[in-house]
Amino acid sequence: MILKKTEENSDTIMQSNISIDLKAKNNSSARKTPTKRTITEWSQPSRPFVSIPWSTNTARTPRPARTQRPSQPRLSSEAFLKHRENPKKRTLEEMKKLVKKGEVPVRVFGLWGLEEVGINMTVIEYQDEIIVVDAGLQFASFDMHGVDYIIPDISYLLAKKKNIKGIFITHGHLDHIGAIKNIIGDLNYPVIYTTPLALGLIKKSLDDKDLKNLRYKLVDPDIDIVKLGNFLIEFFHVNHSIPEAMGLAIHTPKGVIVHSWDFKIDFIPAIDKPADLGKISRIGQEGVKLYLGESTNARVPGHTPSEKVIGENIKKVINMYSRKRIVVSTFASNIGRIIQIIESAVRQNRVIFLAGRSMINNIQLCQELGYITVPKEMIRQVSGEIDQLPDERVMILCTGSQGEEFSALVRMATNQFKDFTLKPDDVVIFSSHTIPGNEKAVGALMNNLVDLGIELVDDPSLDLHTSGHAYQEDMKEMMALLKPEYFSPIHGEALMRHTHKKIAMDMKIPEENILLPKNGQIIEMYDEVVLPSEKRLKLDTVMIDGKGQGHLSGEYVMKAREIMAEEGVVALIFKIDTKTKELVGNIQIESRGFVYSSEVKSIHTQIINFAKNKYLDNNRKRMDTKENLRNIKETLGEHITNIIGRVPMLMIMYVYINREAMVEPENTDDSVVGMTIEEQGGEHEITEA
Ligand SMILES: [Zn+2]
Repeated sequence: MILKKTEENSDTIMQSNISIDLKAKNNSSARKTPTKRTITEWSQPSRPFVSIPWSTNTARTPRPARTQRPSQPRLSSEAFLKHRENPKKRTLEEMKKLVKKGEVPVRVFGLWGLEEVGINMTVIEYQDEIIVVDAGLQFASFDMHGVDYIIPDISYLLAKKKNIKGIFITHGHLDHIGAIKNIIGDLNYPVIYTTPLALGLIKKSLDDKDLKNLRYKLVDPDIDIVKLGNFLIEFFHVNHSIPEAMGLAIHTPKGVIVHSWDFKIDFIPAIDKPADLGKISRIGQEGVKLYLGESTNARVPGHTPSEKVIGENIKKVINMYSRKRIVVSTFASNIGRIIQIIESAVRQNRVIFLAGRSMINNIQLCQELGYITVPKEMIRQVSGEIDQLPDERVMILCTGSQGEEFSALVRMATNQFKDFTLKPDDVVIFSSHTIPGNEKAVGALMNNLVDLGIELVDDPSLDLHTSGHAYQEDMKEMMALLKPEYFSPIHGEALMRHTHKKIAMDMKIPEENILLPKNGQIIEMYDEVVLPSEKRLKLDTVMIDGKGQGHLSGEYVMKAREIMAEEGVVALIFKIDTKTKELVGNIQIESRGFVYSSEVKSIHTQIINFAKNKYLDNNRKRMDTKENLRNIKETLGEHITNIIGRVPMLMIMYVYINREAMVEPENTDDSVVGMTIEEQGGEHEITEA
């Protein structure tokens, strides 16, 4: 065994091709290794086999009497029929009894990613050591007003950041690396273990400070082993829609955890090598206690088609339109596909023009790493140069296949793209499927394109897209090789995970050995058993708004934005005499998106009259000012509902006026100008934001 790096005392990366002897840690009673037997010599049957020639008179064949072979053992297929036995189902109570007194388990939990596709992050903890697998984001859905994306809630890790031994990144997709830029500094820059492509993509997302502090170690999944305290981590190569994807085999004091995350098994991948089934099988042979397997395509039968086949189809389509200018739109993250498109285009002597920031960044990185080897001058950014080349020498490769608002293709379709204008007869190829929820945006995009006279190619029968995620048969293959004792379907919504559970049960994994935790729910691994814990971390929704500067935790902000978006906003400003608490002048009112202009005057007047009468009434009852305004807010909502049938966002603000001095009062607690009640220490209410 050669030590590759020994920068930390116990935490090392080793290069090795030897098998790891951790069997002692996988000696659970539930995994019974069959007693080995050695067949040393061929035992001569008491009677040689008799061959029966075709069309012979069988009556002549001597049939030995039973009594002639008393010592012959009865032929039996016992070993092959064993799987038909239905072992007794263990109850949770019986399983709990297998936990030794005072035994400390290995704890495994997903901070998110177990109730949705995306925002993936797994934590594995033993005593005071933690390792983390991936840290992804999820783009906000259309009803999350103003939010860009969501990241995992790392409060648990913040409290234990000194225990984090490392973050392992399985591949470079945003739902696995996208949160790193938001959390890495807060976690004191734990070492990131990953491959060059994922590291390159992470680096592109970081600001200067994070880049300076970033600590990382590159791993080669074929040969490297990382030792971090009680954990020993091996890697195995898998296929996906991006090269350099890998799964992890994490050896822990309580057994081996295999974490496959995004994978498919592709025997003829386009630019990668096939998944390392040999190594996966070896890991399975040595004993896997718990397998965490992705469930995205659990409902899709068959094997995931190879990217190479898709590449061939794209090549055919490009050839079909050999005289026309072609625009191809696909996911910037689908690097395997992009490389194939570029190679096909260059073979046709087309120059590739890139549009979309993520497309440009990712292709630059692939050129740096050697994945794209076509001459540099054949790949350029979109510019006026396009019009100087004949149509058959141009291909535009762009983002926007999901109809994203400011994406390159959407801007082209609405003639808002600088430096390039689509013209009738251009061909636009969609090499991507529409993600559920984006149908409307994609429909609008396609309508705009055909209105411009563009020829669209998105016929699914052309198979221009394949998934990077395992279909059912790939899942079964992985399960068959790993032969896990316990299984937890991850990465997916409830339906996907439950379907994956059924697949595992079909493959004879006992139902009680399959765990379906929710986000934050903890799995506990003991020597003899793996159990769902009653403990569950309370996770917040951490939304990133704008340029990732502000974390918006909780539902209040969302709720407020939802009300403002749907019902509008009304603000009332009360001017109150400092001493007498009488109203000074009229209550001012402002509203936005509330009612049509023809109704504004009448409805504003009704609101002011109601608020004024209520204030005077409460004041007569000697109600405290803040209490008075809170009461107005509560009753005004009902009053507005009576007028227009709905409630807008209400903001009640007040200003104290010192009429004696006729100057603005000192900035004391009681003289804050222009703040809402809540900002002055009121209760936390929806209307705070
Ligand atoms: Zn992925």
